[in-house]
Amino acid sequence: MHNLYDYTLKQLQELLAQYGEKPYRATQLFSWLYEKKATSFQEMSDISKKFRQTLEEEFSMALPTITVLEQSKDGTKKFLLELADGALVETALMPYNYGDAVCVSSQVGCNMGCSFCASGLLKKQRNLTAGEMVGQVLAVNKILAAELRHVTHVVVMGTGEPFDNYDNVLSFIRIINDPKSLAIGARHITVSTCGIVDGIYRYSKEGLQTNLAISLHAPNDEIRQKIMRIAKAYPLNQLIDAIRYYEENTNRRVTFEYILLKNINDSIACAEELARLIKGMLSHVNLIPYNPVKELPYQRSDEKTIHAFFECLLKSGIRVTIRKEFGKDIDASCGQLRAKHHEKDD
Ligand code: SAH
Repeated sequence: MHNLYDYTLKQLQELLAQYGEKPYRATQLFSWLYEKKATSFQEMSDISKKFRQTLEEEFSMALPTITVLEQSKDGTKKFLLELADGALVETALMPYNYGDAVCVSSQVGCNMGCSFCASGLLKKQRNLTAGEMVGQVLAVNKILAAELRHVTHVVVMGTGEPFDNYDNVLSFIRIINDPKSLAIGARHITVSTCGIVDGIYRYSKEGLQTNLAISLHAPNDEIRQKIMRIAKAYPLNQLIDAIRYYEENTNRRVTFEYILLKNINDSIACAEELARLIKGMLSHVNLIPYNPVKELPYQRSDEKTIHAFFECLLKSGIRVTIRKEFGKDIDASCGQLRAKHHEKDD
């Protein structure tokens, strides 16, 4: 079975050619899927009966189903989606004043083993297909349609490591970016990686104008290796080289994400070291107040510490922001909703 939502327009044209179908068939199918929001092959009236029969037999257009929906006081909505094999993934909707952003998961569970993150509590079960990622955006669009809104921004920052599922994530980006599909602008799409250096080099050459975020979380290898296993595979000098390469090749600046963990990476000495590490790069730093996870020993830095860290970077000439928090009251961080859901089952 081929799921139609897995394919970019180009990939679909290639696949349909094997059935003797012309490229315009793929465009017609895209229009049925994304514009007319068809739910069955039967309604695809401009496609021959014969090919519709083939579609029935060899293709599917199945989408994940929404099983839990929580809403936070700040408007964040959290969805737990059930995939065809029963696996559960999280998706969040964050209403900004500039539009509606969806946080998409890229894998079921995660193997990166960042010690502060709830996602890693479940080891990677499998990669998500491109269609399952598209399905997350479509599920949110369905909910938003009632308010005449639609998803305008996508961040691949849910459960999973996008560069550990590179090909599917790339197809997903090309699908949602396609003007014939959801037409989400490249600059409205952000991929976040824990720092898989090979992936960053590869991503530099895709010719995309999307945003790249790097989960840095520490100013040196010593601290980084304590909290992020990936830092042992790719030390900071290699990571920084890859980011410079990315910035030179794409002319896009990366965002460094930096979670502030109490007494781990939040001292002024850390802020100074961070400033020295990234001085002169195009990049900007987004400080993230940590959302505590019940099973894990980390605590959020207090407000005063967060602001002192922020001020120190600012004074050192680093572009820096503090992330607006969403959905704190519904545990909307990485892996937290799924973990909670399983808890109920236990
Ligand atoms: N694997 C990718 C994308 C998923 S995580 C990556 O590591 O970038 C998305 C971001 O959320 C990362 O920066 C991650 O470190 C951060 N994060 C994970 N758990 C968090 C928590 N409890 N509170 C705040 N941010 C968290």
